[in-house]
Amino acid sequence: MINDLVESFIINLFIILICVQINYFWQVKRETDENNNYLALFIALAGSLLINRLFFVSEINSSLSLHIGDLVVIIGVLYGRAWIGTMLFILLTVMSTLIHPLQGLYTIMTSLPPLLISLYLRKIYIKIPIKKKYTQAFLIALISSIISMSLANGLFSNRWTWLDSILYMLVYIGGLLGLVYYMENLKRSRMLKREIINTEKLQAVSHLAASISHEVRNPLTATKGFLQLLKSDDNLPAEKKQQFIDIAISELNRAENIINDYLAFAKPSMELQETIEIQSEILKVIEIVKPLANMNAVFIQCHVPVFYVNGEKHLFQQCFVNLVKNAIESMQEGGVLILKAEPIKKGINITISDTGIGMNDEQISRLGEPYFSTKGVKGTGLGMVAVYRIVKSMHGSIRVKSKPKEGTTFTIYLPGHP
Ligand code: ADP
Ligand code: MG
Repeated sequence: MINDLVESFIINLFIILICVQINYFWQVKRETDENNNYLALFIALAGSLLINRLFFVSEINSSLSLHIGDLVVIIGVLYGRAWIGTMLFILLTVMSTLIHPLQGLYTIMTSLPPLLISLYLRKIYIKIPIKKKYTQAFLIALISSIISMSLANGLFSNRWTWLDSILYMLVYIGGLLGLVYYMENLKRSRMLKREIINTEKLQAVSHLAASISHEVRNPLTATKGFLQLLKSDDNLPAEKKQQFIDIAISELNRAENIINDYLAFAKPSMELQETIEIQSEILKVIEIVKPLANMNAVFIQCHVPVFYVNGEKHLFQQCFVNLVKNAIESMQEGGVLILKAEPIKKGINITISDTGIGMNDEQISRLGEPYFSTKGVKGTGLGMVAVYRIVKSMHGSIRVKSKPKEGTTFTIYLPGHP
């Protein structure tokens, strides 16, 4: 009999692993925040309990596969939160009671000790290094298995042989250690992934630093020149002096703005939420790119109504400057750039259409990938990275339609109100 039970125990262990793994994939895909992660872990563990109860436990006798629930509760406490373990325990008890009231009682008696022990040790457990975690998990499993075994034999007179008991303890302890090993690995791979994202971001930032130092150097050189002029020539008329100082200050402002943009990209979290009036902001953007448009013989049309969205003004500008610059740069032989905005339900669609060189499917799919640029040394491949980040931080979305040699239309949806 015990062999069957060991078998179902192991199958159930796999079910837990599969549920947790699905949960992990889901988290990786959705890039969810911490709290959602815990909810997802709870759902995964509860799901594995449900499968266990529905398909494996029908008789009160199959106590071993019942104890898979203990492991789920322990893991819920140690790798989730105290509430996760407690909720799992309650779920376990309710489900057992539904099968048979006696089984509910049995569950409370056997699963409460592991819950309490792990709740008690949780604070220590989450701080200690991995090796000690195994020792602690071993102790938790040992104590819990002895308790539940005594209960099974004493109260429910299962009459296990010594061999049965030892096998049971081994499976219980091995099961928990296996789960701990698995959870630790998941934790490590999640941490690695986070590190990779951080290094990618840092790389993007350092790449940006190269192009920005170039742009910052120009106004600084100009400022230096004017200051040297002021220093070397004492006979300058006061009017001229004032003029030089004004130019120097405005050049320094320009350098400051570039650095500000660079920092904005390095730290894309929304710190200063304000109401942005998009019509005036987009007109400002057009002012900024006017010289570039004139140089490329690009005619700009703007039909944007007054509309309000939430976000950071300079990030909003940075986003649209990048989009409009790309549009202009795609029209080296001149063309028309149309900026339009159309309020829709709960937000606004802002479209930027150009009659430029367009993109093929592969290029469209690579938009927003750091360093993807078809402009050779002139491109940074970071403009669209910033665009995607900023739109995401404003809870908006981006759609792209493009045809090679015909042109491109970007549609940016942003939530807001008229
Ligand atoms: P960069 O402009 O420095 O090349 P971006 O991230 O701004 O980098 O853009 C990445 C690439 O996307 C560009 O090199 C270009 O190939 C393509 N792209 C973006 N916008 C357009 C557009 N409006 N028309 C054609 N290609 C575009
Ligand atoms: Mg660009």
